[in-house]
Amino acid sequence: MQRLAQRTIPLVDLRAQYATIADEVEEAMRRVIASSAFVHGPFAETFEREFAAYCGARYCVGVGNGTDALLLALRALGIGPGDEVITTPLTFTATAEAIVLNGAAVRFVDVDPLTRNMDPTQLEAAITPRTKALLPVHLYGLPADMRAINQVARGYGLAVVEDAAQAHGAEFEGRRAGSLADVACFSFYPGKNLGAYGDAGAVVTDDPALAERVRRFADHGRTTRYEHDLVGVNSRLDGLQAAVLSVKLRHLEAWSRRRRELAAWYDAALADLPQVGRPSVPAGVTAVYHLYVIEAERRDELLNYLHAHGVAAGIHYPLPLHLQPAYAFLGIPRGTYPVAERLAERVLSLPIFPEMSEDDVAYVAALVRAFYRAR
Ligand SMILES: *Cc1c(COP(=O)(O)O)cnc(C)c1O
Repeated sequence: MQRLAQRTIPLVDLRAQYATIADEVEEAMRRVIASSAFVHGPFAETFEREFAAYCGARYCVGVGNGTDALLLALRALGIGPGDEVITTPLTFTATAEAIVLNGAAVRFVDVDPLTRNMDPTQLEAAITPRTKALLPVHLYGLPADMRAINQVARGYGLAVVEDAAQAHGAEFEGRRAGSLADVACFSFYPGKNLGAYGDAGAVVTDDPALAERVRRFADHGRTTRYEHDLVGVNSRLDGLQAAVLSVKLRHLEAWSRRRRELAAWYDAALADLPQVGRPSVPAGVTAVYHLYVIEAERRDELLNYLHAHGVAAGIHYPLPLHLQPAYAFLGIPRGTYPVAERLAERVLSLPIFPEMSEDDVAYVAALVRAFYRAR
């Protein structure tokens, strides 16, 4: 490896992306500032229309962040104390927070070892008379098996909520994330595939009554300016974020294509390494590679090696949720979800972002190869 010139490769590079769209973004932000449409308003409405259309859904309600999108979607479905919601333990903590903070009980099922997403074959054993909804996550930008999940849900009369925070534009059997269940929740956190310049999120659905309940709850339960028919919260999309998102949405398809191209280069460069498991994409699915996640032998050593050579690899996520201190109150012992637990010990996220070059991928892959060759 000493022969490769050292590079510095971040996990994502938002400054490099900004350089490609600076004129468009600055012009859009100037228009918001000149009109003072700072909280919700016309720029938010425009983005909501555009993003609903992009997802292939009828309604999009812009909210403050992706966590609120999940919270508000479950709330609008009427989920609360006494109810159970089933999700996956291999996800960001926000997925389960939304269940717990609504007063409902979080239940997990293990993940599928190939897709790393909710394993639909385990759902029936986890469903009880209190179960109200299934909350699959399209982890790393790969859609969950929505055909099987929706089929189970129909059989038991359950709602299905997509956590699509990592999956803007991902497709399952020809339809995009956001149109694959009763309601979908998106995050536009800056590092997400479609990211704002601050916090933002959205709830997407075909159900007009559900969209209206989310909108009202997210805006102080207000019917008119100072009439409130329920106790709500303040979680609205702001105009500056909406304007940035409208600009970036125009580039999203090209960025997703580029992510798939980068992933294919990684796939080819790592194909013959027995120590490395690569992401697998089932037939009928189009991934958007929010992250390119390998499963690696001696993962932590490899991570340190990559860091020492300038590559900002990461781990998503080092602990499945049932083993996090925050969820210790659930009393779920280690060993309960063996696939998620094994993945948490082996997953490693290699840098992937649209502005990366083929050379960057080659450099990272060469480091991974050198690490295993040397040992
Ligand atoms: C980012 C993320 C969220 C939360 O979104 P925020 O906008 O950060 O609140 C929820 N679920 C998953 C899977 C995420 O990756």
